[in-house]
Amino acid sequence: MSEAVISPELLLRNVRPMAGPAVDVLAEGGVIRRIGAGLASSPGALVVDGRGGILLPAFVDAHMHLDKTFWGLPWRPHEAGPTTRERIENERRLRREQPLPIDAQAERLARQAVSRGTLHIRTHVDVDTEIGLRHVEGVMAARRRLRDVVSIQVVAFPQSGVVTRPGTADLLERAVKDGAELIGGVDPAGIDGDARGQLDAIFGIAGRHGAGVDLHLHDPGEQGVEQIRMIAERTRALGLGGRVAISHAFCLGMVDESEAARLVDLLREARIAIVTTAPGDRPMPPVPRLRAAGVAVGAGSDGVRDAWTPFGNADMLERAMLIAFRNGFRADPLLHDALDIVTRGNAALLGLRRYGLEPGDRADFVVAPAETLGELVAMRPPRALVISGGRIVARDGECALPPSSPFTQEP
Ligand SMILES: [Zn+2]
Repeated sequence: MSEAVISPELLLRNVRPMAGPAVDVLAEGGVIRRIGAGLASSPGALVVDGRGGILLPAFVDAHMHLDKTFWGLPWRPHEAGPTTRERIENERRLRREQPLPIDAQAERLARQAVSRGTLHIRTHVDVDTEIGLRHVEGVMAARRRLRDVVSIQVVAFPQSGVVTRPGTADLLERAVKDGAELIGGVDPAGIDGDARGQLDAIFGIAGRHGAGVDLHLHDPGEQGVEQIRMIAERTRALGLGGRVAISHAFCLGMVDESEAARLVDLLREARIAIVTTAPGDRPMPPVPRLRAAGVAVGAGSDGVRDAWTPFGNADMLERAMLIAFRNGFRADPLLHDALDIVTRGNAALLGLRRYGLEPGDRADFVVAPAETLGELVAMRPPRALVISGGRIVARDGECALPPSSPFTQEP
């Protein structure tokens, strides 16, 4: 691991914004100042050769679980059964037998994300009556340590249910008071057996504290659809349009044509976003149709090497490929759409400001070797450079930050 490079001024030569013509980019004070051919820099500026690579705004991961990962630990064979409930119970058992050092694990996975070009993350963090706010506190510690490099939004997430575990709603409210930006939920009908009870509890907290909402909804078919209607009702009633997301929403990929059309209209009117992880074994929400209708669509890694899945590497370029793969995207404009979801789509969903490749935007970007954006999504080459606030934070696929906690030091 090499030393991070900190420079007040960075001149990045010979890069191609969104695979366009080659230019230079001058960043100062963490912000893009100028973009153009043959830019001059002041003495003492760090000058870096982009070698003709494609320049993209940094990737954004709209759905992670930083507190659950086994990243960096010895391989643990996957033991969970196939249902959501079995996976929850298996994780609870593992957690009792071998609690994870949450701050260290969250930092490990965030640094892995940085190495792949992700500089903005929304993470769901478990809250329940057994662990209390321990995971939220751990993730918040990691986010403080990494705050100059990666922005992290925390969703207080009742993984084991709300109504069926009395005391959870109070903990969620405390997490929001302690700095969680959003309140989560999980299968209000399937897990709690009381859709109204869970939704009223979490929307109540959101309404009282001005928090956003991002719910996990795995419930299938008509059961899921009915809950989307209930979420839309509450979103409208509280004026939370634009700040509510439904993650997974498998049910949107399980309904007939006329039902799908009604739901797309409902989501657009209520300004509710859909976040997908492009799962291999569950139905997909209709991504092209949602985007064409003006529904915000985001994407995320979901769990990365944890009790829920052995897979994942926190690479949003790979996630773009998986979105394309699952949706049968082959033509280049469709591959561009997949890339747009993991960059500008996710940035809009997270409400990021000064995101992009124009002067005045934050100097957060990725340089990767490819001729075209289509080739980039298909090949997922290692990121040549990742730059956060005008500072190089990863190079040739490796995180370039010095270790900041004893757990993440290299042996
Ligand atoms: Zn999740």
